[in-house]
Amino acid sequence: MADGETLRFVDRTQVYPAKRAPGERAGDFAEIAARYPTPDAEAQAGRCSQCGVPYCTVHCPLHNHIPDWLRLTAQGRLREAYELSNATSTMPEICGRICPQDRLCEGNCVIEFTGHGAVTIGSVEKFITDTAWEQGWVEPLVAGRARGQSVAVIGAGPAGLTAAEYLRVEGYEVHIYDRHDRAGGLLTYGIPGFKLEKPVVMRRVERLRDGGIVFHHGFEVGRDATLDQLRQRHDAVLIATGVYRARAIDVPTADGAPVVAALDYLTASNRKGFGDAVPAFDDGSLNAFGKHVVVIGGGDTAMDCVRSAVRQGAASVRCLYRRDRANMPGSQREVANAEEEGVEFVWLSAPAAIGGGSVAVRRMRLGTADASGRRTPEHDPGGDTTIDAELVIKALGFDAEDLPALWGAADLPVTRWGTVLVDGATMMTALDGVFAAGDIVRGASLVVWAVRDGRDAAASMHRWLKAKAMAERRAA
Ligand code: FAD
Ligand code: SF4
Ligand code: SF4
Repeated sequence: MADGETLRFVDRTQVYPAKRAPGERAGDFAEIAARYPTPDAEAQAGRCSQCGVPYCTVHCPLHNHIPDWLRLTAQGRLREAYELSNATSTMPEICGRICPQDRLCEGNCVIEFTGHGAVTIGSVEKFITDTAWEQGWVEPLVAGRARGQSVAVIGAGPAGLTAAEYLRVEGYEVHIYDRHDRAGGLLTYGIPGFKLEKPVVMRRVERLRDGGIVFHHGFEVGRDATLDQLRQRHDAVLIATGVYRARAIDVPTADGAPVVAALDYLTASNRKGFGDAVPAFDDGSLNAFGKHVVVIGGGDTAMDCVRSAVRQGAASVRCLYRRDRANMPGSQREVANAEEEGVEFVWLSAPAAIGGGSVAVRRMRLGTADASGRRTPEHDPGGDTTIDAELVIKALGFDAEDLPALWGAADLPVTRWGTVLVDGATMMTALDGVFAAGDIVRGASLVVWAVRDGRDAAASMHRWLKAKAMAERRAA
């Protein structure tokens, strides 16, 4: 029973939900952390000191009302906590699972700085909305009064789904076009189940479908329609296509060497989880079973690859990264999880050649700082080695595809990185009524930023569409 008290951070220790033992979790793709039992969630929420200026909220991209829903949780008022948490986010239980909280809300919690350990905000957020789903508190999506205007959303990732939800609530007819056969974008086919189980994503998608949002799967803009054709069919368009051009690696590679792209590998693994037929997995090309696996890269995608390879039964899994642990872009929490599961990190190492069942590894050291202040890795002669590699996975990050060329839309302005250029205030491109949101604007980023962009884009599109309807009425 909740005692309703807050400010208990001195006498109540920080406790995250229990993680399953590494040996057990390495055998499946289920999430590794359990959910709090209700008394633990209430007790942990009660550690919050209810700051007047909550830095957790400031550093949450959605500016969630964190202290308020923590207080309601501590008081056992879970339904109200859910309603408040849901007011600023379309997918709180997803962000609660996969946000890098150590860099966002929890990393800026004041009691972290006093040495007591942050309030476990993400885990409480996940608890609140998972409970709401179980208790039937998650309301169906109800469309607003029909406005007689329609919107095309290109891309069913978190940015597109979020914008679609808010626009449907405002009464627009919403059509989502996605080249995949399932919605969710990287939530579905990128991020593995051990971080985010797929039913958690699919129940969100079903709620949108039941609310009247029309999904056009297997529909690739550029192949099945041009941008112009969608503009003619709809009153406004949102581009939310993410970034998918895998960065290349300039390393001599023998013909036929088993080198695969991270996203192909992760997509195949996620598809197997859905029970799909995946010939490239079944023939071994995208399956780590029994193999010595080398993953190249130090970001979160690389972490997802190494941990997936462990679960597929690889003989060994090594991660090559050219900088050291302190300078890697991936989350330290994920590195720790991977190490617990048996992954070996080979820091300060870069591939020199791939082929013949091995990778020639060049020893690196950190040299002088570049313009950004980051020390550039350079060859450290004398320490080169060779390691076994029957499957090499390249996980070096993603850039934007060339949308103007692919979509026959030379007038769509993009930056020199290929991301779509928008007006920062309206999120509209230079093309009237064409907006953009998520990774395709920011470059590879985070789910929570995609949700924020989707929310902002929907608000801006709503303003623009209302003005358009009014102008048309006046002209009639
Ligand atoms: P996406 O999720 O990429 O969705 C874009 C959608 O557009 C896709 O469904 C795609 O099929 C569709 N599309 C693209 N082109 C077309 C076209 N021409 N026609 C029709 N449809 C098209 N972020 C976190 O916060 N936490 C994590 O733990 C995390 N882990 C990650 C792990 C991996 C392996 C990767 C790759 C990314 C991870 N991210 C993580 C980043 C996060 O997934 C992205 O920032 C987020 O999904 C971006 O959302 P989006 O809606 O902009 O694009
Ligand atoms: Fe923290 Fe992310 Fe939730 Fe915001 S959305 S409160 S950053 S876990
Ligand atoms: Fe509570 Fe920490 Fe946020 Fe302060 S910063 S309101 S203690 S969660």
